[in-house]
Amino acid sequence: MTQRLPRIAIAGMAIESSTFSPHRAGARDFHRVEGDALVDRYATLRDGRSAGAAEWLPVYYARSIPGGAVLRDTYDEITGRILAGLRDLMAEGGLDGLFLDIHGAMSVDGMEDAEGDLITSIREIIGPDVLVSASMDLHGNVSDALVSQIDILTCFRLAPHEDNWETRDRAIDNLVDALRRGGRPRRAHVTVPILLPGEKTSTRVEPAKSLYARIDEIEKRPGIIDAAIWIGYAWADQPRCHGAIVVSGYDDTAIAAAAEELGHAFWDARDEFEFVGPPGTLAEGVDAGLAAVETPYFISDSGDNPGAGGTGDVTWTLAALLEDDRLTAEGAPTVLVASIFDDQAIAGLRNGVIGDQVTITAGARVDDGPHGPVAITGVLHSLHEGDPDAGGVAVIRIGGIHAIITEYRKAFHDVADFTSIGLDPLAAQIVVTKIGYLEPTLYEAQRGWTLALTPGGVDQALERLGHHRIRRPMFPFDAFDTAPDLTARLF
Ligand SMILES: [Zn+2]
Repeated sequence: MTQRLPRIAIAGMAIESSTFSPHRAGARDFHRVEGDALVDRYATLRDGRSAGAAEWLPVYYARSIPGGAVLRDTYDEITGRILAGLRDLMAEGGLDGLFLDIHGAMSVDGMEDAEGDLITSIREIIGPDVLVSASMDLHGNVSDALVSQIDILTCFRLAPHEDNWETRDRAIDNLVDALRRGGRPRRAHVTVPILLPGEKTSTRVEPAKSLYARIDEIEKRPGIIDAAIWIGYAWADQPRCHGAIVVSGYDDTAIAAAAEELGHAFWDARDEFEFVGPPGTLAEGVDAGLAAVETPYFISDSGDNPGAGGTGDVTWTLAALLEDDRLTAEGAPTVLVASIFDDQAIAGLRNGVIGDQVTITAGARVDDGPHGPVAITGVLHSLHEGDPDAGGVAVIRIGGIHAIITEYRKAFHDVADFTSIGLDPLAAQIVVTKIGYLEPTLYEAQRGWTLALTPGGVDQALERLGHHRIRRPMFPFDAFDTAPDLTARLF
């Protein structure tokens, strides 16, 4: 007699949305995956531990690079597909489990807890008995609606997120193990009233490095499935945005003790969080970059980092660089400046002749808060077509400055993003890009770095943004007269 394999559905929707960014994410922003391709995303299902461990039932998955809030129609359309697929599976033979692949910092116009709404809608269809395991970004948020309705939660343990696939595989393996074992996992949840940008909480450096390192030992304890620490998402103004701990398992005493231990460790380290790169103004970064003997020198234009939710067309930085004669003179050292998206500018440049003088106005069509469109007069250095994210790309040279203009939003977060358009960041004096902490290949390339605290929808100087809906008191916005309540709540 053969034992019936558990039936496990796979679904999800992921974006990181700044509510301070005027960008809106619509249908075109989401990359969709369904059918076998959805199962094949996960190594553990291709040829790993959970391959063949269940009847894997792909429903629907949609993901966008970070941006502003999702248009309500787009959210309804994507969640409608997820809910319809789950309804069919429930009718066709029911479900034992669901793996939910989410980020946790999605914002939707008119909603304060989008992932909470998603799981509530899902539970209405699958009922209370189906075990749900979720993988999240550590920059996501954990609301009561989320932690009360998902049986096992985990999130990344590294920032930058070099473990982003490993985390999803762990969430899947946790679900398979829980279904084999039987019984219902429980969660211990601690709210940590800290709201910090990711650039102060990288696990490459202390104190986050040691904080996250504690997880290894904790998850080996009896009765514990998984332990997770959320930094939370600083660029949304919602009550759910703050640090959180969730420990999932079968032993209430063990999970509560572990969650409180991590919660206290997080809180006790609050004064030690510093920017991962040396912070400074743009002007300080340029001075240091021009003086640098060892190059390339990197400048993070952090306020408009599309990788965190910035619009990607803020012109404030490029406009400032274009006013600096040391950079725009003929013979000036090479400075790569990535990037501004503007489809109208690309339409105008597309038929240009390489080497000709061009004059365009670009950027600030979506986010014109910090600065209006920037006028650029220079030499058309190169043109490129067919980038999967950027579409058309033009490089305009103004003295040493190589300004990159794209048709659509694109983050230049990898050495290959530059070399694919014929620019060599390793040979540049200065590389300016819209990013916060440097992603791995850029981090390896840099010989000096300023995390420039520039304006935009993901401004690193949080106090410049104005949060009104977050819980108070909140570190570092408020003083604490008494220690916060770090008691675990059990679900
Ligand atoms: Zn993240």
